[in-house]
Amino acid sequence: MKVLVATEKPFAKKAVDGIREIVEGADHQLALLEKYTDKAQLLEAVADADALIVRSDKVTAEVIDAAKVLKIVVRAGAGYDNVDLAAATARGIVVMNTPGQNSNAVAELALAMMIFMSRNRFTPGTGSELLGKTLGIHAYGHVGRLVGCKGKALGMEVVAYDPFITDPAVFEADGVRKVDSVEELYKCSDFLSLHIPATAETKGSIGYDLVMSMPKGATLVNTARKEVIDEEGLMRALTEREDLKYITDIAAGIQPELDEKFGKRVFATPKKMGAETAEANINAGLAAARQVIDYLTTGNTRFQVNK
Ligand code: NAD
Repeated sequence: MKVLVATEKPFAKKAVDGIREIVEGADHQLALLEKYTDKAQLLEAVADADALIVRSDKVTAEVIDAAKVLKIVVRAGAGYDNVDLAAATARGIVVMNTPGQNSNAVAELALAMMIFMSRNRFTPGTGSELLGKTLGIHAYGHVGRLVGCKGKALGMEVVAYDPFITDPAVFEADGVRKVDSVEELYKCSDFLSLHIPATAETKGSIGYDLVMSMPKGATLVNTARKEVIDEEGLMRALTEREDLKYITDIAAGIQPELDEKFGKRVFATPKKMGAETAEANINAGLAAARQVIDYLTTGNTRFQVNK
């Protein structure tokens, strides 16, 4: 069967070599479409693909429609909002992500962002330390949990909110205090690290009221998705509270306006870089290839997100 790896931004060579070994080792055929610049190239390449591996590439209804024999799409990464799940499901195509494979890279960036902001973005002046500060983790999944553990290692008091993790032992095992409402979380967090996925429920859910409730001098850190932010609400809160800061790995739609209005109190990475490490790149690519082969061979749907 044909396994297509379609990546506008290619995997590292080591990852591609590993993917080839896994795919060809299982007697399937690997096709690469790298650095494509036109949607038409993807539509053509996917036409006879049985499996598709992508990174942040958009798998729209049009792509699904063009893929006449497609059985599985694996998004090499955690978020899968770049795949049209409804269109895939309607065609009976299995969609998977590769949870956990890039979490450490994102978690390290989140911590680095906290230090960067508390040290005046590495410009002269007196900064502050993370030691003893309260770190709020909004969503205790793969990334959130690692951020919490690393925060603890830096001497922070870690508090978390995740309504879908009902077993308190998960938090207790990490020495993390669990709170039962999002309001409670923001109220006590000197640093609030966002790790919620972008869903119908979470989109636009972080806005004026939550940001305004944060303690004096607090920093909101977003390595999740820009869509979860109510940007107008954030802007209003930053206007009314000159002590608050916002740093993000996914520039806001209104980022130029935020930069102009709030100067050093806001920062966006020039391009999403949370998962951009050699290690994460390789881990996610190899996991995607293994999951494709496992599905084609045994029908394993463990990481399916459109069940
Ligand atoms: P994950 O699926 O392991 O964890 C997500 C957690 O969110 C789960 O524990 C779930 O219970 C919780 N959750 C879902 N809805 C919630 C809600 N309404 N309120 C509170 N908690 C809720 O995902 P992850 O690997 O930890 O990644 C988290 C997010 O980070 C991804 O969805 C993705 O958007 C983003 N991400 C960004 C980068 C980057 O490059 N910046 C890289 C990887 C992931």
